[in-house]
Amino acid sequence: MGGSCRRISQFVLKVHSRCDLSCDHCYIYQHADQTWRGRPARMPPATVRRAARRIAEHAREHGVPVVHVVLHGGEPLLLGAAGLREVLAELRTAITPWARLDLRLQTNGVLLDEELCRLFVEYDVRVGVSFDGDRAANDRHRVFSHGGSSHDQVRRALALLRRPEHRASYAGILCTVDVRNDPDRVYEALLAERPPRVDLLLPHATWDHPPLRPGSDPTPYARWLGRIHRRWVDDGRPVSIRMFEALRPGGGGTEAFGLAPADVLVIETDGAWEQVDSLKTAYHGAAGTGLDVFDHPVDEVVRHPGVAVRQDGVDGLCATCRACPVVDRCGGGLYAHRWRTGSGFDNPSVYCPDLLGLIDAVDAYPPPTPSVPRQRPATPSGPGEWSATAPVDELLDDLATGHGSTSTLALLTATQLSITRALLAVCRDRFGSTAAWDLLVHLDQAAPDAVRAVLAHPFVRPALVHRLDPAALPGLGAALDPLPALAVAAALRAGVPATVRVPLRAGAITVPTFGELVLPGPGESAEVTVGSGEFRARVGSVERMVSLDPLAPPSTGWLPTRDVPVPGGRVLLEDGDPYRDCYGQPVEPRLDASAARALGRTLADAWRVVRRDVPAHAAALDGGLRAVVPLAADPARPLRSATARHAFGAVAVTPHPDPETMAVLLVHEWQHAKLGAVLDLYDLVEPGQGTPIRVPWRPDPRPPEGVLQGVYAHLAVTQVWRSRADTDDPDASAQAAHFRAWTRDGVEALLASRSLTAAGERFVGQLRHALEETRVGSG
Ligand code: SF4
Ligand code: SF4
Repeated sequence: MGGSCRRISQFVLKVHSRCDLSCDHCYIYQHADQTWRGRPARMPPATVRRAARRIAEHAREHGVPVVHVVLHGGEPLLLGAAGLREVLAELRTAITPWARLDLRLQTNGVLLDEELCRLFVEYDVRVGVSFDGDRAANDRHRVFSHGGSSHDQVRRALALLRRPEHRASYAGILCTVDVRNDPDRVYEALLAERPPRVDLLLPHATWDHPPLRPGSDPTPYARWLGRIHRRWVDDGRPVSIRMFEALRPGGGGTEAFGLAPADVLVIETDGAWEQVDSLKTAYHGAAGTGLDVFDHPVDEVVRHPGVAVRQDGVDGLCATCRACPVVDRCGGGLYAHRWRTGSGFDNPSVYCPDLLGLIDAVDAYPPPTPSVPRQRPATPSGPGEWSATAPVDELLDDLATGHGSTSTLALLTATQLSITRALLAVCRDRFGSTAAWDLLVHLDQAAPDAVRAVLAHPFVRPALVHRLDPAALPGLGAALDPLPALAVAAALRAGVPATVRVPLRAGAITVPTFGELVLPGPGESAEVTVGSGEFRARVGSVERMVSLDPLAPPSTGWLPTRDVPVPGGRVLLEDGDPYRDCYGQPVEPRLDASAARALGRTLADAWRVVRRDVPAHAAALDGGLRAVVPLAADPARPLRSATARHAFGAVAVTPHPDPETMAVLLVHEWQHAKLGAVLDLYDLVEPGQGTPIRVPWRPDPRPPEGVLQGVYAHLAVTQVWRSRADTDDPDASAQAAHFRAWTRDGVEALLASRSLTAAGERFVGQLRHALEETRVGSG
């Protein structure tokens, strides 16, 4: 660890310092700082490499779980697809061994094309586009050097990002406010682009250069933004508008508001470390530190006085702000906006009256209902696992596209793993430490990947839940201690010799993710000895040896788990683990070899169909679906599927032979699994709001959470059929219309029910937008 030095998680990489637009409100070229003139236009590859290594070094030394890197400019797209690919590859190679890498890019959009969009999807880069609203608003500032409009080019870029195949890379819109624009028209123009998020930016100004205040209104920004806030609330908060969310009580703040310590550093094209860009508006050289990536690690930059003062929270503010009743929400506004020659940054924001007025407006209309985060698991997070700094709103916004990106799936998977770990700890507290617990703890340190692979098995959590509360999962029989079998599985994966006593269930032991061993004779437990690539189990005087070598002859009594190849990797065909019986409907006993082969083929073909129809959903399946459980055949209901809240990573289906049908089942059920994982973390429905709601897909009224689940699943099914409507499938348009109508009715009923939290309302509002895009003829 790097001592007491604060860790930084956000880095802005200036990969190109020139721009193809000539906006007159640009703080880089038009404000006090002119240091860009002496810098290289492009960041040279050696500087990119050095920057990436500095970031990686910091992540490694401080255990930063998620590193955010924003490619910025000038205009980063001027680097071209090949140049950007080199930068992205360099960053991924250097940083991902140490931290989850969240890549972003901020662009004016003019040069965005399909090749670039494909590159951003490939590298999981989320793209923010600067766009000031309707044509009149945008062209007031965002023009080419010859004065021509950029409006059409930017709208074309936004349309490209909206396409289903690129949507995962659409981060949102950054809009700079100009109070001379019509707020209603700006709001409508922004919403029409269906962004996952809108950032409203106050134009940069200081006490030396105050903001434009036309007319006699002393707080025009509060009035202008207050108007948009009202529209946004009236519309059910259909999109995340970060400014309004940050200003709510407990809103969490952003760089522009709130008291959180500054957590961002900039790297210029010449490798210079700088503070946030907005300081460039204060005076020439204001953002400089005199340090660079070649000679100075991040820890040294954090100790720079200009950065250090911004770690001090309320103590770093002027006396007026310290005494202000809303300081915890405003935080003195953006640091740069406090500048005044003479007193430096020791002033309130030049927008102070507007900020006060805006906070009043946010409070007054109407007091929002805060969403109540569920208690998060207590287990400390490590690289790749959930962290308290993870962008919660972004996770919900991303899933509200209908599918969710691979990084969101990775976050959901990590949170589920944390819950499983927390349940393990509860078992230890309840039942005491055992040899199996000690072995798991040892392996978690010696071979953490092995333990993680076992704990991520979908049926570990049901086993732990059943052990703690047998009534929660009726039908699973006697509650046995699952820890010994988990320890055996982890030791086998780690190649660590161990001996553990494993309880028998119906004359067999199940080694999660490996298989089931049937043992002869009576007995309550087996002594299992793990060796290298094999294990032995002894009950009384009988011993059975199991070799895990796939080329070895079959071991007596051993029923290995089968994993089948699918385009996204391999998926377990789970027909042995006893805890798979948690779906509230009968599961199929172990399939014979030919039935297993047939189901494996259908799954692989279905996966290809999902890829063909809805690639974004295929990526979401790749990111988290680990196991498929065959449900028992029932001639009365041949087409059934299910998910279980405690078994994230698995879906259960009847082994239907048609891949096209199976594809719909997989997509449908995976929606339930994802939303279940979200509901483990956040309340989208107000607690205690159980008034049933009528929906078209069920004869009986459903509780709000059930309707939310139905809407989310039907949206995905609509997206599948909408895609098929572009082919010669004669039924597809009618099916798409059918599921769209169900989804729409469910969405409207949910919103009208007033049963959702603020987060739930916004989520459902965004589902409505995603549904809009499935109208035939939309694209
Ligand atoms: S697009 Fe951005 S970087 Fe380029 S001139 Fe406009 S504000 Fe400045
Ligand atoms: S800038 Fe104004 S509103 Fe904000 S904390 Fe300071 S005094 Fe309060």
